[in-house]
Amino acid sequence: MTYPDLHMIIGGEKVAVGDRRTHTVVNPATGEDIGQLPLASADDLDKALAKADEGFRIWRAEAPEKRAAVLTRAAGLIRERAGDMAAVLTAEQGKPLGEAKGEAIYSAMLLEFYAGECKRIYGRTLVRPAGSHAEVRYEPVGPIAAFAPWNFPIINVARKVGGPIAAGCSVIVKPAEETPASGIMLVQCLLDAGLPPEVCQIVFGVPDEVSRHLLGSPIIRKLSFTGSTAVGKHLMKLAAEGMKRTTMELGGHGPVLVFEDSDVDIVLDTMVAAKFRNAGQVCVSPTRFIVEQGIYDNFRDGFVERAKKIAVGNGTDKDTRMGPMANARRPDTIEQMVADAVDKGAKLLTGGERIGNQGFFYAPTVLADVPQDAEIMNEEPFGPVALINSYAGEAEMIAEANRLPYGLAAYAWTKDAARQRRLADELEAGMVAINGANVSAVDAPFGGVKWSGHGSEDGAEGVLACMVLKSVHQS
Ligand code: NAD
Repeated sequence: MTYPDLHMIIGGEKVAVGDRRTHTVVNPATGEDIGQLPLASADDLDKALAKADEGFRIWRAEAPEKRAAVLTRAAGLIRERAGDMAAVLTAEQGKPLGEAKGEAIYSAMLLEFYAGECKRIYGRTLVRPAGSHAEVRYEPVGPIAAFAPWNFPIINVARKVGGPIAAGCSVIVKPAEETPASGIMLVQCLLDAGLPPEVCQIVFGVPDEVSRHLLGSPIIRKLSFTGSTAVGKHLMKLAAEGMKRTTMELGGHGPVLVFEDSDVDIVLDTMVAAKFRNAGQVCVSPTRFIVEQGIYDNFRDGFVERAKKIAVGNGTDKDTRMGPMANARRPDTIEQMVADAVDKGAKLLTGGERIGNQGFFYAPTVLADVPQDAEIMNEEPFGPVALINSYAGEAEMIAEANRLPYGLAAYAWTKDAARQRRLADELEAGMVAINGANVSAVDAPFGGVKWSGHGSEDGAEGVLACMVLKSVHQS
């Protein structure tokens, strides 16, 4: 696999490094430099804004069938190119090739679903006396500035551009500079499918410069961000200055409630794989295992046994189940959080160390009996660390699940039907999985509550989030 040349795409034109500042892209499995990415100048961003302004006028006037056709064709191209896209993703982000390919296919499915949604945007007609008329209609919000992170470099970009395109908006997307090529390939599929080049721009830059520039422009009507809660709060303040709408997909601290009536082996087989998927760098990653005391010892020991067997390596190796962490910041952060937990009395049962002498590998790690004041019990680890603690019963377990300000994904395992309904009611989360590990589907809204953000991507809601309401009263 040859890692592609990197560029921005503004008005359909590839904007290469030239005399611009650059960011060096690194393969996280080897530590080698693999690409030079151009960083946008203020002039580049002004061009992207002008194109987005034009693109909105073009696209909002386009028939929904045309938008749907472009999304459907783009999905077909993603399917055709999924192997190449996966290889590039693995080179720049590290996850195993199979997971990378799955991400490309999920993106194709999402665009196909959104293509259908183009024709399912309904307003309503209000009851009025004969001769007068009143209606509520949805209209596209306008040009959107979207920022996507590095953990899912294809699907995050597909989410950021798919909703706006289905809704009739234009969009400027800035993926993370660490993983640029996957997003470039995704946007290229849309352009090759016939998307007018003014409708979707892809830029890279110094994140704070780009976000200030785009959000400072009156052309941009909405901010869409996926990333940490801290950066999300900062961007919301910038958006507030221009009264821009926001969709914020932020951090989580996934609780997993495991009750004594569940089958421990099934829970472990499902949740250990879920924990270490993408080396734990997943906003919905299961993190705090809240285990009812009667099964605690079995659960903890079974977890450790399985974690030790996970094959860690380069994502290109077919036996690899967990790749490296995506960048040098992650193992540093995890190392410091694990040390803090152990200092405060947590038991380190496996892992807790880097692996090898190249790249950013960190071993699958299990901490048990972790004190509540350890940083890792309160801040998102975003890495391959499971925290396992014992609790006395349902009330205590729900209280622990809801203790943190985060509310993204929550998981629960129990065979008791009445308890399943109580958990669905009580868990403060945007997404809940009961007796399973999956919390996302293209037709379901993906998003959180509390500090995990607001608004949704995927589902019909992912399109409606790119629209505004207008009431029309006609006498
Ligand atoms: P970070 O907080 O510096 O950055 C998070 C993301 O925001 C990155 O993609 C980054 O490029 C972007 N970003 C940072 N500053 C920005 C700005 N001023 N304007 C626009 N975008 C900006 O942290 P990081 O080290 O890259 O990632 C670690 C943390 O980020 C994790 O602990 C996790 O909480 C969070 N994160 C969350 C998700 C998610 O899916 N919700 C994805 C990646 C990272």
